[in-house]
Amino acid sequence: MNHYYLLCIAASLLTCSLCAKTPNLIIILTDDQGYNDVGFNGCSDIPTPHLDQLAADGVRFTDGYVSYPVCGPSRAGLLTGRYQDRFGFTTNPTIDPSNPDAGLPKSEENIAEVLNKANYSSAIIGKWHMGSHTSNHPLNRGFDYFYGFLSGGHSYFPKNYKLNDLTEVTRIWEWYNTRLLENFERIDVQEDYLTDVLTDAATGFIEEKVKADQRFMLYLAYNAPHAPLQATEKYLLRFPDIADEKRRTYAAMVSCVDDGVGRVMESLRRHNIEDETIVVFLSDNGGALTKNASDNGALRGAKSDLFEGGIRVPFAMQWKGIIPAGQVYSHPIISLDIMGTITALAGVKIAEDRPLDGVNLIPYLTGENNEAPHDQLFWRKWEQQAMCIRDGDTKLVANTQRHKNSYQLFNVENDLSETKNLRKQSPEKSKELLEAWEAWDDQLKDRTFPTLMADKWWERL
Ligand code: CA
Repeated sequence: MNHYYLLCIAASLLTCSLCAKTPNLIIILTDDQGYNDVGFNGCSDIPTPHLDQLAADGVRFTDGYVSYPVCGPSRAGLLTGRYQDRFGFTTNPTIDPSNPDAGLPKSEENIAEVLNKANYSSAIIGKWHMGSHTSNHPLNRGFDYFYGFLSGGHSYFPKNYKLNDLTEVTRIWEWYNTRLLENFERIDVQEDYLTDVLTDAATGFIEEKVKADQRFMLYLAYNAPHAPLQATEKYLLRFPDIADEKRRTYAAMVSCVDDGVGRVMESLRRHNIEDETIVVFLSDNGGALTKNASDNGALRGAKSDLFEGGIRVPFAMQWKGIIPAGQVYSHPIISLDIMGTITALAGVKIAEDRPLDGVNLIPYLTGENNEAPHDQLFWRKWEQQAMCIRDGDTKLVANTQRHKNSYQLFNVENDLSETKNLRKQSPEKSKELLEAWEAWDDQLKDRTFPTLMADKWWERL
């Protein structure tokens, strides 16, 4: 009897200690925000105090990457922890609501589906873009709560939401004006600005999970500061000194996101769960520069490039009490590591036929492991026949059509702006990296669905 009793106590203590080590996860993703458009990376004209605080309370990644330089594939990588070309997600998919194959393939498990196995409750708030057919709706893909829109972008002014849903689209870009969805329900909102609406939904979800005492994962996917450039007077008035109207509107949009991050963090503090919550912030690709007046600083290129300006993004992570505060981490890491980290912490077994490319970052951030998390990182743009590999400080890139003269070799540590092509000086290194990339490429699939604008799908609805 006594032995049994002691065993029960031991088991319950063990469970509790495991619980305490399994954190909530909040992923705050922005859209098309430039590397230099956060205070923690040196931005001077747009104050981002809450994002800076997040980085100061945790780690700022100087060399934080995403797996693709535009929205859809980058998100597919982030949500699966795998290079998205492994499952043919090579470009932005069509948002044709009648196409069940466009989006995350059902053969892949996303972060919500995997965390369900560890009893997490998961929400996506904001932009989905992982398929618009009912079978790909977030609630049919492992999420317990959805508040937002299915397409790849949206108007910021709820007064513009004249369409009930995507089936009513008759013209290009009209999908920016659908009503929002809460789970499967179309809803109307009273506020005047979408970014604030999404923040409200995020804090509401956190509150509900705290009340239910439930472990959660929140994927807060703001569409800001993606075009269209739209902001309300409340935020525009913060930037009277920015003369360029596009940059001023962009600044207002980023400032509103920063307010939102502040409200999310305040919610964690108010409920006393900041220590048990990992918060990750990143952009889904580099700044689009001319389209949204973003700023990638010294990085070469922009959204859609495999130069650093397309794939290296503002990236920070906080886990109080575990990740030492004020850390600047310079080994290359990638968005795929978010999945690698949380699945390792939650102790979820990953299917053997779908191994993750992302790794658990925590041992690297606590100093337990001083090696680089990745020997090599890879990128491919299948339609454009473009490639890129980063190996230590060296990078081989063919940003446009691959052929023997388009490869460029850079040392991105000494030459951040990728100005000095070292390929002729280092033919051996170039060959070695190309061979490594080709071996990786052999594991990938061709595109499996129609692209965003394919066949003018809206004319067939
Ligand atoms: Ca984007």
